[in-house]
Amino acid sequence: MKYISTRGHAGQPVNPEFCDILLGGLAPDGGLYLPESYPQIGRAELDAWRSLSYAELAFEILSRFITDIPAADLKAICDKTYTAAVYCHVRPGDNAADITPVRWIEPGKLGLLELSNGPTLAFKDMAMQLLGNLFEYVLARRGETINILGATSGDTGSAAEYAMRGKHGVRVFMLSPHGKMSAFQRAQMYSLQDENIYNIAVTGMFDDAQDIVKAVSNDLAFKAQHKIGAVNSINWARVAAQIVYYFKGYFAATESNDEQVAFCVPSGNFGNICAGHIARQMGLPIAKLLLATNENDVLDEFFRTGIYRPRKTAETRITSSPSMDISKASNFERFVFDLVRRDPVKVAELWAEVDAGRPFDLSQTSYFARLADFGFVSGSSSHADRIATIRAMFERHGLIIDTHTADGVKVAWEMGGEVPEGVPLLVLETALAVKFAETIREALDRDPEAPPDLQGLEALPQRVEVMEPDVDQIKRFITDHV
Ligand SMILES: *Cc1c(COP(=O)(O)O)cnc(C)c1O
Repeated sequence: MKYISTRGHAGQPVNPEFCDILLGGLAPDGGLYLPESYPQIGRAELDAWRSLSYAELAFEILSRFITDIPAADLKAICDKTYTAAVYCHVRPGDNAADITPVRWIEPGKLGLLELSNGPTLAFKDMAMQLLGNLFEYVLARRGETINILGATSGDTGSAAEYAMRGKHGVRVFMLSPHGKMSAFQRAQMYSLQDENIYNIAVTGMFDDAQDIVKAVSNDLAFKAQHKIGAVNSINWARVAAQIVYYFKGYFAATESNDEQVAFCVPSGNFGNICAGHIARQMGLPIAKLLLATNENDVLDEFFRTGIYRPRKTAETRITSSPSMDISKASNFERFVFDLVRRDPVKVAELWAEVDAGRPFDLSQTSYFARLADFGFVSGSSSHADRIATIRAMFERHGLIIDTHTADGVKVAWEMGGEVPEGVPLLVLETALAVKFAETIREALDRDPEAPPDLQGLEALPQRVEVMEPDVDQIKRFITDHV
């Protein structure tokens, strides 16, 4: 499988394969990598895959996208990644071997696809754990090392650290905004004692941390000398890994491959739902993809109006579903590439506008009508909606859901009428409630429970450097520790 750039020039090598793009970020022309075509999954494969374990299914799907790792090695990587021991937070009553079980809210009709059973209790573990094992494998094969530099507002940083801890050839320098994450999130990251993990708390906001990462990455000499890499949400391997659970969810929610399913996805950077879009393009019988945003509704606005109007950082609202506080959805370009019939010149033209801080408007074009062909429906929610949804889920169903999943459930309840009669709708559970305890207390006047193995996490010793948001100081820290 060869990869192309959404803007037409995938760079060196001219026709990169999976391992060539694994450790990099953007394509050299500023676009995003996508496979040159989506593998088509027919009825015969669906029939053969229905009974597979998660790891077996992951291998079948990923081997369509990864053709430059020997099959036996890829199989071993999938087997090592998707185990009940890694995804150990499956809740009582669910089958631990499922990795991503479905919990029905209304049997056969509305369910939660549990994606938060990994080490950091958020769906990002589903892809990041694979990434950790792929990085270690590819680096060892090439005799290389990498120093991952990232910024996090919470979930990404901890998922990356838990995926990379103890991995040969990999160091992680993770910047986080000092004092801005929840106590549980802080404890998850800062209590790691692995020598290859460095936590840097920056006295500022998430954006300050993000700006430092950009400044360091833009210093090409420093970047090359210190082998700086990233694991951010545009990484193709993360999107590819996320395709697997759409198939798994389909098999869990249906009894035969004649049936369809629908998904509702809490969205920020459009990474998770992009994987759903690709699963649908591959032939998975997905009737609808419901996209849910919070108050930062740039994507909802696009799917309703055809106008994409990324907001400025200052316009980004700080909400109680913070992992969706995004005003420029970095993976959205992948979907628009397909929407404009894979015309890289058109994508380059649209993103010239975006990069200049201007909106683009497809409402008067033939592309706008195509949105329905792609099955998208969208909605948004507010803090009051989240509180009401968390309460209703607890009172009616005895379930405590997290704030991001609540955004999804709200949109599923509101827009469920768009899903054809008889088609089950799965809301993707993107985190566990314990990560966002403050809002749960506000809604339910009680504390969400931590899984037994993570109780008392906040009391463990923490390892973190507090630093000013100063690029030179942070570069010096990296130089001193590589
Ligand atoms: C990252 C994240 C999201 C948003 O996912 P995208 O892939 O950026 O759309 C939603 N919920 C939680 C809990 C997250 O950590």
